[in-house]
Parts: sequence; C-alpha cells; structure tokens
Amino acid sequence: MEKENHRNSPIAINKEDFREIGYRLIDTLSNFYETINERPVTIGETPKQIQAILGNASMPENGTSVSELVIKTTDLLLNHSLLNGHPKFFGYITSSPTQIGALADLLAAAINPNVGANILSPMATSIEKQTVKWLAEFIGVSPNYGGLLVSGGNMANFTGFLAARTAKAPKSIKEEGLANASGEMVFYCSKATHTWIEKAAVLFGHGTKAIRWIPTLADNTMNTDILEKTIMDDEQQGKNPFLVIGNAGDVSTGVVDNLSKIASICKAHNLWFHIDGAYGVPAAAIPQYKELFDGIQEADSIALDPHKWLYAPLEAGCTLVKNPQHLIDTYSAHPVYYNFDSSADEPSLNYYEYGFQNSRGFRALKVWMALQQAGKNGYIKMIHEDIELAQQLFEEAQKHEELEAVTQNLSITALRYIPLNYVREEGMDETYLNTLNEKLLNELQQHGEVFLSNAVVEDKYCLRACIVNFRTSKNDIREVVEIIVREGRKVYEKLQKR
Ligand SMILES: *Cc1c(COP(=O)(O)O)cnc(C)c1O
Repeated sequence: MEKENHRNSPIAINKEDFREIGYRLIDTLSNFYETINERPVTIGETPKQIQAILGNASMPENGTSVSELVIKTTDLLLNHSLLNGHPKFFGYITSSPTQIGALADLLAAAINPNVGANILSPMATSIEKQTVKWLAEFIGVSPNYGGLLVSGGNMANFTGFLAARTAKAPKSIKEEGLANASGEMVFYCSKATHTWIEKAAVLFGHGTKAIRWIPTLADNTMNTDILEKTIMDDEQQGKNPFLVIGNAGDVSTGVVDNLSKIASICKAHNLWFHIDGAYGVPAAAIPQYKELFDGIQEADSIALDPHKWLYAPLEAGCTLVKNPQHLIDTYSAHPVYYNFDSSADEPSLNYYEYGFQNSRGFRALKVWMALQQAGKNGYIKMIHEDIELAQQLFEEAQKHEELEAVTQNLSITALRYIPLNYVREEGMDETYLNTLNEKLLNELQQHGEVFLSNAVVEDKYCLRACIVNFRTSKNDIREVVEIIVREGRKVYEKLQKR
C-alpha cells in the first residue's frame, strides 16, 4: 500500500530491496576481487559476439525488477569485460582500480553533491580542496598550488593550456579572440608528447602548425638546445611564443624531460611552463627518484592523473596551477541566475570558475579516501615496487637469449622477441622483426593470459609493459616472460610455414 506521503516513483527502491541487492552486489564483487587472478585478462570477444550477447532490443516499454537487473548487469560486466584489475594487465597506462575507490564512488553517488558551487556541496568542495593540496604536497610542490579534479589527462592538460594562454595573451583576447594577438601564438613540446596537444591546437583555434615539435635526444628527452633556438627564431620572426610543455613520464617510454633546464628557458623568455605529468609525476614522491624531477617546483601548471599511478578507478585527472587566479581569469563567468557568493570577507570556492565543467561530480572523494587508506608511505611503497617490477622485467629480458630489452624508464619497459636461430645485429631484418612482434602482440592480447601494448622505439616495434598495478607480483613478471617467449616461438613457426 502506498503511504500518503510517499510517491510511488518507478525509479525508487525501497529500503529492504536496496539493502539486500546492495549486500549481494558487494558479496559478488568481493569474490570477484578474490579470484581475479584466476580469470583471463580478456576473453577476446569481438564486437559482433558482444552484440549478440547484448541483443538489439529497443528500449523497454515498461520497467523491470531491480534485483534481476542488477544480477544480469553484473554478469555482463564480470564475464565480458577486459579486467584491468588483473595482476597481469600492463596495457597502455590504465591502472588496477582500488576497492576504496569503488566504495567512494558509491558513497559519492548516493549523496550526489554538485561540486560546481560551494553552496551546493559544502563538505565535498572542502574535501576536493584538501585533495588538491595533498596531491601538490605528495609530488613535492608548494601546497599553495590550486586546482581541481577533472576527468583525466587530456582535460587536465587542456585546463592548463588555456590558463597559460589567458596569462600570456593580450588582455583583450576574451573579447577579440585569437585574431587580435600581436603575432601568431605558438607553443613548444617534444616529439614524444601525447596526442592531447594536437587536440588542443585544433580545438582551441591555433591549428596544428602552431605546435613546435622539438626533437628528442638519444635518451628520448627534449633537446633543450633546439628548444631555445626555436623560441629565439620565432621571437625574431614576430611570433608570439607563450608555452612550453615538459613531459614527466612520456606516454610511450616513461622518460622525464630535463625540467629544470626547460624551467630556466621559460623564465628567460617569459613563457608559461606546463608539465604533463599525467602518468609519471607521482614518482617524484619517491626519495630515490626525486632528483629526476628537479625543476618541478618551477612549473606554472602540472597535469596529473590519479586514475593512472594513484590507482583511482576511472575517471580522475587533476590540474595544479601555481597561481590559481589564472584559472579564475580563464574560466570564471558570473551569470545573473547564480547566487553563489556568500559573503565578501569569506569568498566561497566555486569550482565551476576553475575549469570547463559547470555541474560537477565528486571525483575527489575516491582520491581523498585512497590517499588516506594507504598514506604517503603506502603510495611511495606501491609506486616504487611498480618501478622495481618494470626493472625486473627489463633484466629478465636482458638475460633471455630470445628477448631484447629495449627501454626501461619509471614503470614502463619495452622489449621484443627475437627468434633463437635468428641472425643478430648483422643482417637483422628489422621489417620482419616488426611484423613478428606485431603479430605476437595481437596473439597475446587475444589470448588473455597477459595484456601488453606496443611502443615503437627507433623504428623497432616493441612489446610494452606499463606497470601501474598494485596487484602485480614478481612471480607475475616471471610468468609473463615465459608466456611471451612461448607465444613468440609459436608465432615465429607460423610465419615460417607460410
Ligand atoms: C595518459 C596520458 C595522457 C592522457 O590522459 P587521459 O587520462 O587518457 O586523458 C596525457 N599525457 C600523458 C603523458 C599521459 O600518460
């Protein structure tokens, strides 16, 4: 019977059902985490097979039982997903997700604060502010950096890119647009920079020709001599340089640019210094690696991805800005329909003024809770161990006569398979080896025992392992070496038979 003060909404769940279904889901997920290493990383179903399982019914006319719906959906996802929480998942830069993150997302969704405005999210706004401060402290920059959580590395870099432009462009750019800039606005990054920079150039009206791709040295870091020379050439030609991007862990091989050198060039030429640390910057917290990141305190802005090396479930990126006023200058607007400014002596922090989004979810919670669960030392331990596992993989490849260890930086190792009786060095058919390793990668990805991705290093097609995975053990690495060699032999034989 419907009580008079209760509306019978088709989407509401009563207390008993919510409780029972919720407990059952948590039970299922506990078992899932417990046995994840016994499952394949992926069963390699094709989109067609997946479509057949899902069916192509139209949207249902009428509702369905919540209990059945949750059971059915859990089955679809548990049994037909690629499991990046698997201890042998090392693909791209996608981390194993924390369980605390799953609980935090549930809690955040249940309370549903809109973290666009302080008045709509008093506690959540303060928690996000604290998360941003903790992230700054963790990577070793001043806690006075401000910023916000965003959906990922692309958005974190975009957010910094536009803050840089506002800071360095003529003040009238907001009204006049780019056309009014006193010369073409150009920006600098190494060849190893992630594709976000091309998206930014296209989306924000500069065009890809405004990107100055600086060559890299043999160690894959930006050639800073060429950087400085290119800036001076542009200045002489009346261009308007405004931004240099340094990589702190490039996406392909994990190399950290010479950040202090880039910082001093930026200072000398009055340019904004942005660090793309989406993947690698958490390694700056490790005492043994701190030096590698020297110069990080000079950055005007930094992008980092808690959904990579801090193991947050997707999505969580973060932009840190040395002087957060640049974010407000870039993103703030004051429409008449907002009544958000509480009092003049204590202006409230409204995150809609800090970035692209207006209504915003509570991404910060899963990061904030995980940082506390593990603590600074816990995170240092996990990140350091990931690096050691990548080193172990590199060393085992060096020792193995059928493997070539190619690069290892931070927690990324690139290697390739070379058949035993294959003539090394002299007369090595690189094209053939590239084909062989590409086929091997495809086999491995389909097979589901291990998930690797690829890197192309000096024209060598490599298998690439990026370990941002707190579930991986030394034994997993040993087994992965065996799997690569075993499957490598098979692919080699197959290629010969043709
Ligand atoms: C992953 C990555 C990005 C892109 O981040 P998303 O979260 O995938 O948007 C950008 N730069 C670097 C260096 C990265 O590693």
